[in-house]
Amino acid sequence: MASLWFDLRDMKFQLFEVFKIKDTILGKGRYVDFDVDTCNMALDQAAKFAEQEIAPTYPDEVHRKPVEATYKDGNVTTPEAYKRLWKLYCEAGYVAMADQPEVGGQGFPAMVAASCGCMMLSCNPAFMMYPGVTHGAARLMENYFQHPLRDIVLQKMYSGEWAGTMCLTEPGAGTDVGALKTTAKKNPDGSYSIVGTKSFISGGDQDLSPNIIHPVLARIEGDPKGTRGISIFMVPKIRFNEKGELGESNDVFCSGIESKMGIHGSATCTLNFGDNGKCIGWLMGEQGQGMPIMFNMMNEERQAVGMIGAALATSSYLHALDYCKQRIQGCDVIAMAMKIEDAPAIAIINHPDIRRMLLKMKSISEGIRALCMLCYFCMDNVFSAMYSIAMDPNANKEELEKQKEYWEGMIEILTPIVKSYATDMGMMACDLAVQSYGGYGYCREYPVEQMMRDQKINAIYEGTNGIQALDLLGRKLGLKKGAYFINLLNYTAEAINEADTIDSLKGEAAIVKAALTACGLTAKDFSKMIGTTPYVPLIGACDYLNCLGDAIVGWLHLRIAIEATKKFVDPSTGEQEKAFYRGKIEGAKFFINRITGLVPAKTDNLKKDEQSAMNIPLESFASE
Ligand SMILES: Cc1cc2nc3c(=O)[nH]c(=O)nc-3n(C[C@H](O)[C@H](O)[C@H](O)COP(=O)(O)OP(=O)(O)OC[C@H]3O[C@@H](n4cnc5c(N)ncnc54)[C@H](O)[C@@H]3O)c2cc1C
Repeated sequence: MASLWFDLRDMKFQLFEVFKIKDTILGKGRYVDFDVDTCNMALDQAAKFAEQEIAPTYPDEVHRKPVEATYKDGNVTTPEAYKRLWKLYCEAGYVAMADQPEVGGQGFPAMVAASCGCMMLSCNPAFMMYPGVTHGAARLMENYFQHPLRDIVLQKMYSGEWAGTMCLTEPGAGTDVGALKTTAKKNPDGSYSIVGTKSFISGGDQDLSPNIIHPVLARIEGDPKGTRGISIFMVPKIRFNEKGELGESNDVFCSGIESKMGIHGSATCTLNFGDNGKCIGWLMGEQGQGMPIMFNMMNEERQAVGMIGAALATSSYLHALDYCKQRIQGCDVIAMAMKIEDAPAIAIINHPDIRRMLLKMKSISEGIRALCMLCYFCMDNVFSAMYSIAMDPNANKEELEKQKEYWEGMIEILTPIVKSYATDMGMMACDLAVQSYGGYGYCREYPVEQMMRDQKINAIYEGTNGIQALDLLGRKLGLKKGAYFINLLNYTAEAINEADTIDSLKGEAAIVKAALTACGLTAKDFSKMIGTTPYVPLIGACDYLNCLGDAIVGWLHLRIAIEATKKFVDPSTGEQEKAFYRGKIEGAKFFINRITGLVPAKTDNLKKDEQSAMNIPLESFASE
C-alpha cells in the first residue's frame, strides 16, 4: 500500500526525471562514485526507515496522554521512543549522509540526502529537529573551529554520538540578534569565559546524547555594539579531552523548556551559561565574525525548514486524500440538481470543492518540494565545482569558479524564498487538509490537526517569514547589481520555450512567462519606490515574495508537466505509470492556471500607493 506520509515515486520522479540527476549531478566531480542504483537503494532504505521506525513515533498524544519533552531539575527528558530512534538513526549514518567520507560521511549528493530527509521529516519533524540541528552545528565546527579538539568534535558529532544546537536568541534579542547581552572574556590559556542566557534553544538539553556542543553567539568584552561586535564560540555542555573523554560539567544549565503549540517532542530550552563563572568556550573563526559564520548554519537550516514545510504539506495531503476517499457524505451534484430521489451517498472525494482542495494540496506540496530540490540542485553544483577545483589538476579553474559563483548566486536568491514561501504554502496545505476532513480534522483523533500545529513554527524560526521577505527585497535581489536575480529569471527560459512547443502546454508557458516578467518589473519598480514611497514596498514585501514563489513554482510545475507529458504520450508507458503522469500534468495545470496566473494582477496591486497600514494612528487600531 502507498504511504500516507510521503510519495517515494514522486521523490524519484523529481530527482531522475525532472532534475535529471543521472546526467547533471551523478558520475562526475564530487559524485563520481554515485549512480542511479546507489541513489535508488538509499531512497528505498530511507523510505522504509521513515515508515517503519519514525512514523509510529509521530502522535504527540497517545491514549489522551501527551508525548512530549519534559523538564525537571535542570534536565530534559525526551519522549521514550526517541532514544531508540536516535540510536537507529545515527547507526544508519543519516547524520552525515551528504558529508565527505573524511569526516565520517557517506558523501551522497545533497539532493538525495534531502529527499531521504524529507521522507523522515514527513513522519516526525519534532524528532528530526535533534539530528537536523546537530548536523548544522557539526558543519559549522568543520568549517570554523580551528583547535586541537576539532577532530574529536567532528567525529563525535557526525556520528551522532554527541549532539549540537545553535544559540543565537536571547530574551531581549530575537530578530534583533545584535542586541544580545551574552559576554565572552578571554582567559590566559586562550579560552573564553562565557556568561549569558539564551532562550528558545532547540535541543538545548536532552537525554539522547551524553554531550552537546553549543555554537554560541557572544560579545567579547570591549567589542562594538550591534552585530559587528558579535563573535561565535564552541561551548560544550560537558568538558572533554582530545580523546573525547568527558570530564566536569561546563556550567551550562537548562533552566526550563517552553510549552508550545506544536513539535512537542522537540525540547525548546532556556540555557544559562556561566551562572557559576565556570563556563568556557573557544573562539570559532575570527573575532567579530560571529554573524557571518552563524549565517552559514542559518542558511542550511533555512533550506531544511523549507523542506519541513514541504514534508508536512505532503503528509497532510496524503492523509486527507485517504480520508476523502473513505468518508461518505452527500450525493452526486448532478443527481442533486436533477432531483433524483434515492441517489446513493458518495465518498466526499467526488465533490468538486473537495477535488479543488485536494488538487491544491497536491500541487502545492509537490511544487514547494521541487522548489527546495532546486536549491539542493544548486548546492550540488557548487560542491562539484569546488571538488573539481581542488582535486582535478586538468580542470579549467577559471570556468569552474564562474560556475560556482553562478550557482551560489542562485542559492542566495532562492534561500529566503525556500524558507518563507515553502512554509507559508505548506501551512496552506495543512489548513486545507484539516478543512477537507470537516469537523474530524479539528479533532486529535486524526493527525492533520497536529500537522497543522507542527507546521506553524516553520514560518517563525530561522528568521521570521517577514524578515526573509525584507532580506529578499532589501538585499538579495540587488546582489551584484541584480545579476543573480537576472540569472535566475534567465534560467527559466529553456523550460518556457520547450513548453511553448508542446500544444497542450502553450497556454501554461505563457502564464508562467507573464508571471516571471511581472515579478522582474515589480522588483525594478520597488527599488525606485524605496527612494520615493518606501512604505509601499515594505508593506508589500511578504506578498511580493509569495508572488515570486508562485511564479517560480509555476515554472517548476511547467518542467514537471513537460517531462510528464512526454511519458504520458509514450505508448510504452504502462497504465499505472500513465495515471501517475496524468496526476503531474493536472497538478501543474491547476497550479499554473489558478495560482501563478494571478501573479500579474497581484503585483500590480502591490505597487499601488496604498499606505493605510502606516497611515493608521496607533490609537485607531482598537478602541481605547
Ligand atoms: C520552537 C522554537 C524553536 C526555536 N529554536 C531556536 C534555536 O534553536 N536557536 C535560536 O537561537 N533560536 C531559536 N528560536 C528563536 C526564533 O528564531 C525566534 O523566535 C525568532 O527569530 C523571532 O524572534 P522573537 O521570537 O524574539 O520575535 P521578535 O523578534 O520579537 O519578532 C516579533 C515580530 O516582529 C517582527 N519584527 C521584528 N523585528 C522586525 C523588523 N526589524 N522589521 C519587521 N518586522 C520585525 C517579526 O517578524 C515578528 O513577526 C526558536 C523559536 C521557537 C518558537
